Amino acid sequence: GREIHLKSRPHGEPTPANFETVTVSVPEPAEGQLLVRNHFMSVDPYMRGRMNDAKSYVPPFKLGEVMDGGSVGQVIRSRSPDFKEGDFVVAGTGGWREYAVAPAKHYQKADPSVGPLSAYLGVLGMPGLTAYVGLLDIGKPKAGETVFVSAAAGAVGSVVGQLARIQGCRVVGSAGSDAKAKYLREELKFDAALNYKTAPIAESLAKACPDGIDVYFDNVGGDHLEAAIGLMKNHGRIVLCGAISQYNATAPTPGPRNLGLAVGRRLTLQGYIVIDHANRQPDFLRDMGRWLREGKVSDVSTVVDSLEKAPGAFIGMLRGDNTGKMLVRLAKD
Ligand code: NDP
Repeated sequence: GREIHLKSRPHGEPTPANFETVTVSVPEPAEGQLLVRNHFMSVDPYMRGRMNDAKSYVPPFKLGEVMDGGSVGQVIRSRSPDFKEGDFVVAGTGGWREYAVAPAKHYQKADPSVGPLSAYLGVLGMPGLTAYVGLLDIGKPKAGETVFVSAAAGAVGSVVGQLARIQGCRVVGSAGSDAKAKYLREELKFDAALNYKTAPIAESLAKACPDGIDVYFDNVGGDHLEAAIGLMKNHGRIVLCGAISQYNATAPTPGPRNLGLAVGRRLTLQGYIVIDHANRQPDFLRDMGRWLREGKVSDVSTVVDSLEKAPGAFIGMLRGDNTGKMLVRLAKD
C-alpha cells in the first residue's frame, strides 16, 4: 500500500514539496488490531498546525513518518472480537494511507443505513459534531435570533448554518466566492450570504445583519471576528471554533481592535475543542441521522480521487477549493 509522509515542515502556505508518497508493505494485524482498507480519508485545517513543530492540543506530525487523520473504510482482517471482516469503520486516525493496521479500540462502526460512508468524515463525523456542540451547546441560539457563521460553505460551517435554520434562526454566512454564496442561499436556504473577497467584510456584514448578531460562529478569526464583534447585540455569544485566516501566518497576528465592546455588550466568547465533547456523540448521531433522513440537513462534500492527490486536496482546502467537506477517495467499492 501507499502512504503520505511529511517530508519537510512548511513556512507559511504548505507546498507539494512538504509531502512524499511512499510505498510500504502492510503488516499483519496483531492481537487486538484491525487491518482496514481505507475508502476515504479526510484533510482538515487542524493538520496545518500539526505540520509545525509546536506544542498544541495534538502532537506535531513527525518528519519522515506517515501523516495521520480521519479515515473510513472496510475491515479486511480482524483480530478483535468486536469487529468482523466486511464491517464499515470510522476513526480519527488511520488516514493518509491506503491500508491501516491499528488497534480496534481506535475504530467505531459506521452504519451505512444512516448515511453514506463518506458522511462519517463530514456531517456524521468530526466536523458535524463540531458544528452540533459549538452551535447548540455553546452558541445556544433561540428561534428568531440572528446567527452569523464564517467559512459557511465549508464542512463545519455548512452544518452550522443548516442547524441554525432548524432552530428557527435567521442565518447569515460568509464565503470566498459568489458561487459559494449563491449555493448557501439557494441550496442550503441561508437567509443571506456574502462573498468576503469582493467587499470589506465589515461593510457587507452590516448590510446583511441590519438588526445585529446574536450568535457568531467563528471559523476564520481576524477581520471576520472584528466585524462580528462590531455588530453583536447585548448578551451575544461568540463561538470560537477556528481561526483559519491565521493558520499560515509566519508572525503573530493582531487581535480584534474592538474587543473592548465585549464589556458593555455583555458578550460571551468561548473557545472549545470537539474532542472534549465525545459524551455528545450518541445524541449527535441520533439527531443528525434523523435530520439527514428528513432532508433537513444535506451531506455536502468535494471529492478528489486517489492518495497521491491528498497533498493537493489539503492545500486546496486551505485555499477554499472545497464546498462542504474536502475528502480524498482511496477506493471505489
Ligand atoms: P472547511 O471545510 O471550512 O475548509 C476551510 C475553508 O476555510 C476553505 O474552504 C475556505 O473557504 C476558508 N478559508 C481559508 N482561508 C480563509 C481566509 N483567509 N478567510 C476566510 N476563510 C478562509 O474546514 P472545516 O470545516 O474542517 O473547518 C472550519 C474551521 O473549524 C477551521 O477554522 C477549523 O480549524 C475549525 N475546526 C475546529 C474544531 C474544534 O474542535 N474547535 C474542529 C474542526 C474544525 P472560502 O472559500 O470561504 O474562503
